[in-house]
Amino acid sequence: MRWSQTLIPTMKEVPSDAEVPSHQLMLRAGLIRQLMAGAYTYLPLGYRSIRKASDIIRQEMDKAGAVELFMPALQPIELFERTGRKEAFGNVLINFPIRRRDNELHMALGPTHEEVVTDLMSKLINSYRQLPITVYQIQTKFRNEERPRFGVLRTSEFLMKDAYSFGTSIEQLDESYQKMYDAYCRIYSRCGLEYIPVEAESGPIGGDASHEFMIPAKNGEDSIVRCESCGYAANLERADTGRKQPELAGKSSATEVATVETPGLGSIEAVAEFLKIETSQMIKTLIFLADEKPVGVLLRGDHEANEGKIRRALNVTALEMADEETIKNVTGAAVGFAGPTSLKCSFIVDHDVAAIVDGVTGANEVDKHLTGVNPGRDFEVQETFDLRDAENGDPCPRCDGTLSFVHGIEVGHVFKLGTKYSTALEAEYLDEKEKRHPLIMGCYGIGVNRIIAGLAETCHDENGLIWPMTVAPYEVELIPLNVKDDDVMKHANRIYDELLAAGVDVLMDDREARPGFKFKDADLVGIPLRVVVGGKGLKDGIAEVKWRKGGDAERIALADVTNHVAELVREEKNRL
Ligand code: ATP
Ligand code: MG
Repeated sequence: MRWSQTLIPTMKEVPSDAEVPSHQLMLRAGLIRQLMAGAYTYLPLGYRSIRKASDIIRQEMDKAGAVELFMPALQPIELFERTGRKEAFGNVLINFPIRRRDNELHMALGPTHEEVVTDLMSKLINSYRQLPITVYQIQTKFRNEERPRFGVLRTSEFLMKDAYSFGTSIEQLDESYQKMYDAYCRIYSRCGLEYIPVEAESGPIGGDASHEFMIPAKNGEDSIVRCESCGYAANLERADTGRKQPELAGKSSATEVATVETPGLGSIEAVAEFLKIETSQMIKTLIFLADEKPVGVLLRGDHEANEGKIRRALNVTALEMADEETIKNVTGAAVGFAGPTSLKCSFIVDHDVAAIVDGVTGANEVDKHLTGVNPGRDFEVQETFDLRDAENGDPCPRCDGTLSFVHGIEVGHVFKLGTKYSTALEAEYLDEKEKRHPLIMGCYGIGVNRIIAGLAETCHDENGLIWPMTVAPYEVELIPLNVKDDDVMKHANRIYDELLAAGVDVLMDDREARPGFKFKDADLVGIPLRVVVGGKGLKDGIAEVKWRKGGDAERIALADVTNHVAELVREEKNRL
């Protein structure tokens, strides 16, 4: 491709509304342009990278035995009503009525395709002999994200590779899952991405049933909890801590429980400030509805409740914060004054609460708190649990290392679904004895745009993008220094034609512009290899070949340039 014939609107200025490097650089390098909040056009360079990433994904999916199909983005709302996801998605699900002749139909734009694919399989699968099978597609997804931001990292319309496995047993599911997991690792490596597979909330199957693939990045919206010693990694929702139940034999404290007036102070912070104590001295009492029954959860004041852990500790499926009415019933007070000493429901206790001496807690009376409260002495503690989010410095659950945090961008997610959708949509198969069973499913998603944005976010320097060879819009940028010079253009055009014939993706900057201007744009756009023809080099019979990622320029005889560059491209692609 010749620069003069394509559309690469590079920008010198950093766009004022772009906060993160990927957004700034993708705009400045002419990869994308915004249509409205959360919606972007991919310009030729950006779209070439999207297509290259898609090709790598397809190759690895096919190799893993998945088969490609293509499902409609426009879907009947009934499917989402049957699985309960119309409600679960809420405002995120874009849906609307349309008129067709005299009928009004209600449609949704697919945020993912579990419903459509399960409905499809309910019609196509009869027998265990047809299983297992994994299907996939690369299709646009629609989500009315509350806050679309960071350029194409979070948009209301994006490309997802989504795959779905169907099988007859947990063993088949485990095998399909492992194949997808391994394919994901190869995809991200080949795309030149640094990635961390992290354990994620597992849902109905439990155990090790879900992983997210994260790109470690300063501006990532997700928190990854990691142990440097053993490599344990989990997202914040899932991360266990290696904390143990402390000694529960009562630490004796001479301080007696006293009631203090805390008028209008219903928050941990307000009470701590008022009493001039640390929030870690407070015992936070949260009231939940667990499978519709009220239950208290005791945490240290400075800690955050982890709903997944609470659900597991209580062995319940549904957990939500209790409503005001329930809180009044079990505490006898307004919200903000709950405490364990006279609670009218059972409660569970986090490990760290048991270690508090002379704590402060709600008195179950409006505008009153208790001081000098000691676990074990003033309320019963028989057992303690891990109920809070992991924190920096917590012990690792797997080894004797400590946990720390890294920020990450989620680029993929693999999940053992089980039979949630197949039960709701009656997708069943007949076993050897002609008995019906729901299909056992897994689902596997990759954000294609996030691969590109994630690369832009993590592979750049102060001058611009630095693409890996495999997903770079072009592999080689050829720069004739002076396009008015016939000798320069004779060699440049020959090398250009030869590179094309050798199957190399080459972009020639044939613009009539100063060399410095072209070099700046080349750095900004970030094509991995640069070939410069002209100037003193031409007189010496050489072209300069240089990597965007750094290092010295090589001087290569003009006649050898094509072979040399084609070989470098091939080697670099194989390396990834
Ligand atoms: P997030 O937590 O970031 O909102 P998610 O967990 O809802 O993502 P999944 O339903 O697991 O996303 O979708 C699979 C993949 O699709 C994600 O791993 C991510 O890479 C990508 N993705 C999800 N939402 C968006 C979005 N709004 N814009 C771009 N890519 C997205
Ligand atoms: Mg996810």
